[in-house]
Amino acid sequence: MHITKVEIHTIDLPLHEPFIVSYTSYDSMPAIVLKVHTNTGVIGYGESVPDEHVTGESVASVHAALKHQLIPAVLGQNPMNIQQIHEKMDDALVLNGAAKAAIDIACYDIIGKVSGLSIHTLLGGKQEQPPTIPIVLSILEPEVLAKQAIDAMQAGYKEIKMKLGTDPLKDVERVRTVRKAVGPHIPIKVDANQGWKTVPIARQVMRDLEPYRLSWVEQPLPKGDHSFFKRLKEQTSIPLMADESLVESQDLRTFLLDGSVDFINIKLMKSGGIYPAYKLATQAELFGIKCQIGSMVESSIASSAGFHLAAAHRNIIATEISGPTRFSTDTGNLSYTIPYVNLPDAPGLGITVDDEAIERICSHIEVVS
Ligand SMILES: [Mg+2]
Repeated sequence: MHITKVEIHTIDLPLHEPFIVSYTSYDSMPAIVLKVHTNTGVIGYGESVPDEHVTGESVASVHAALKHQLIPAVLGQNPMNIQQIHEKMDDALVLNGAAKAAIDIACYDIIGKVSGLSIHTLLGGKQEQPPTIPIVLSILEPEVLAKQAIDAMQAGYKEIKMKLGTDPLKDVERVRTVRKAVGPHIPIKVDANQGWKTVPIARQVMRDLEPYRLSWVEQPLPKGDHSFFKRLKEQTSIPLMADESLVESQDLRTFLLDGSVDFINIKLMKSGGIYPAYKLATQAELFGIKCQIGSMVESSIASSAGFHLAAAHRNIIATEISGPTRFSTDTGNLSYTIPYVNLPDAPGLGITVDDEAIERICSHIEVVS
């Protein structure tokens, strides 16, 4: 079996509401869907949702990387040999995790369809509890957030994730207001997305946040200097999670050796797909560091890939994959019974991909063969 051609569909996923984080606001998510064809007629679907602020990739750069380096490297290769697929990709191009993730996901979809097994079965079987998602709150006024948090609890969510990182004083007010609204027992975690700029600012905000019983603070400071985490860890008590600072396995090695983070946020779009992400989760497990599978607001294709991985690895204790709840047009039918995902058991990704919907939101198709 070998890969004969790959279709690159450039799409724009429309959001119900703008998604606001510390560094930008999105009205829609530009993305790429891959259709990987094989000589046996089996087709695998992959998706790439790059984020310039995290891996330095954009839809344009992913498109170029796929067209000129990655797809030529895997054409003629056996998609069932995922290890070799990654070797070929890594030999052709370093980094570029979001571009590689699309090929990785499509290959797992093919392996599952050929073997008749879901991806989580291929990865070792699912944990007893299906993955859950928190409500993810954008950066808004405190009273608006409090109302959204209460509405979310009534809708069935059991956990809150708050985006912070624009204004330290207001961030504390946001958390205080939401904590007061939902009471003491609902888990709340926060993500500053690198927004607290310096160690003294982050230290002060985290000390001010200590009374509000946060599960963890994610990526308080800019990526680039891993020593920020160690300095904060020594001077604050809220557990720390690395996200933007952890892209490659070498980043994880630094954190494992200096013990400066409590949790890591793995994303398929950073790691280069399911195969390297599973390895990261296992490496972290050796050091007692628990993992979350996050996402870049991905549609049903990449989201289901993330959930299959999360279900299959016991060191993955949280998921934040809510893209399909945010889009008005989706690439497939992944669904939730809030707060749980309805993890598909059908072969491969297990979802039904909606080719017509993809066509409606597609601005460009390129075929590489
Ligand atoms: Mg994050």
